[in-house]
Amino acid sequence: MAELLNVDDVVGRIVRAVQPLSSETVPLIDALQRVLAQDVVAPVDVPSFASSSMDGYAVRAGDTSGASPETPVRLRVVADIPAGAAPCVTLGAGEAARIMTGAPVPEGADAIVPVEDTGETWRSDGSSRLSEAVEVFRTVESGAYVRPPGENLRAGETVLEQGTVLRPQDIGIIASLGLAEVPVYRRPRVAIISTGSELVEPGQPLAPGQIYNSNGPMLAALVRSAGGEAIVLRTAPDTLDAVRSCFDVALQSAPDLIISSAGVSVGTHDVVRAVVEELGEIDLWRVNVRPGKPLVYGHVQGVPYFGLPGNPVSAMVTFDLFVRPALDRLQGARQAAPPEIVAVLGEAFESDGRRSYLRVRLERSAGRWVAYSTGTQSSAALLSMVRADGLLILPEGVRHAAPGSEFSVRLLRPFALPG
Ligand code: AMP
Ligand code: MG
Repeated sequence: MAELLNVDDVVGRIVRAVQPLSSETVPLIDALQRVLAQDVVAPVDVPSFASSSMDGYAVRAGDTSGASPETPVRLRVVADIPAGAAPCVTLGAGEAARIMTGAPVPEGADAIVPVEDTGETWRSDGSSRLSEAVEVFRTVESGAYVRPPGENLRAGETVLEQGTVLRPQDIGIIASLGLAEVPVYRRPRVAIISTGSELVEPGQPLAPGQIYNSNGPMLAALVRSAGGEAIVLRTAPDTLDAVRSCFDVALQSAPDLIISSAGVSVGTHDVVRAVVEELGEIDLWRVNVRPGKPLVYGHVQGVPYFGLPGNPVSAMVTFDLFVRPALDRLQGARQAAPPEIVAVLGEAFESDGRRSYLRVRLERSAGRWVAYSTGTQSSAALLSMVRADGLLILPEGVRHAAPGSEFSVRLLRPFALPG
């Protein structure tokens, strides 16, 4: 029997075997979770002008020296500057301008006195025009409450690197640079093949001995959650002809990746392997992981291909472990560390010595995460995945894990904090 392959080595081999797709330009508003195909470099300083960080009065800091509530300094108000106004006045000695948050600080001013530290007086100058003065109750330093140009970032600075998966805050900062479009890698097109003579599509009546195809819809959802475009094919019964024609249809859809589920073990009806060996080649076979055997990785007419196990839990775990990194790589995304936390076991867990990913729910207790099994760990029991917050990782060689011991838990995305 061939040696079992290590999970991390397999991921490394998959990632090295796959190349990023071409790029395209999309409107910024549609760029969430897309992967940047180029660095974003600031074309301008942000902010581009000195602005006030408070509602108040723009002043010459020197004019406020000695000001206090008991000994206010009175300044002549020569302008009113709302946000969005172009700078228009130059402040002279003894002058102030009323200014709003975000408005440009006028020439001559070098500090803002917040409105809370001022009083207002109004007087007639003798004509019909009112002139205004403000009483300043505190001394401000030069630069107080002034956001200098380039405070956020400088022209020429790299703001985001190629390979970044765009988050809302990334989209915000790209918008702040004035860019309405962004270069991203193309979404991978992923053909999904469900094989098995027992499968019926949801919505159809079930005959004795049949089950609904849950892998197809689940894998399509996993592909979308990983940034891909899912092309879902009709289920194929376990005959060479049916599976072959299903792969033909898949190949006609110009896929960047093909995934099939089931039919890759050594059962007599497992024809998928035979078809793939006809159309392409198989690179990997036995991985030291549970659940997850059997797993096939290869190429079908040059298209990267994964043959996932038929059991739904195994299909999902192997997707997360092996297909997700491939999809990240196709999209040019930097490989992100899997979201893992350390948890204390709330009960004993068993393994057979392969690296095991066991479904657990997490409870918060005395400042630590405590992991409990979600029930049967059968790889056919998808409910245990539905109830899970994460996958407890028992490393290779661990056959028994005692309550109170600590292990990593890989969080299922999105992770809802247990109530
Ligand atoms: P196989 O890999 O073909 O031996 O399948 C393993 C188990 O997974 C069998 O019990 C199948 O009935 C089940 N299975 C295979 N494909 C699917 C599917 N698309 N949805 C739900 N269960 C499946
Ligand atoms: Mg089968």
